[in-house]
Amino acid sequence: MTKKTLANQKPTEVRTPDLAETAMTPSHSRWQEFIDRLAGPEGCDFRQTDAADPRSVTWRCDSEDDTCPLSRAILTDLGFMPVAIDESIQYFHDHGGFCDCEVLFSLGWDE
Ligand SMILES: [Zn+2]
Repeated sequence: MTKKTLANQKPTEVRTPDLAETAMTPSHSRWQEFIDRLAGPEGCDFRQTDAADPRSVTWRCDSEDDTCPLSRAILTDLGFMPVAIDESIQYFHDHGGFCDCEVLFSLGWDE
């Protein structure tokens, strides 16, 4: 039987936070990827029903649902930790994104 001592271990581990543990904000390195997916078929699914009419754009969003389920699903798929997802949704709310499409309108398409 060999007893390993813990004495050689560093007392505290200092490391930079993994990206998946960081809230999704416009400064995140994967922000644009997130926005693109949220606007795409797996997210709000923005589409122009009449190619000749720019005002014929439709999309999917439950404006009553401020938990932003589509955003959550994509962040989960990107490997975000639950706490980071909660922080992301809170950030969206703080910046006018109270439902999935508002995340795009308020945060995603800033010029
Ligand atoms: Zn919406």
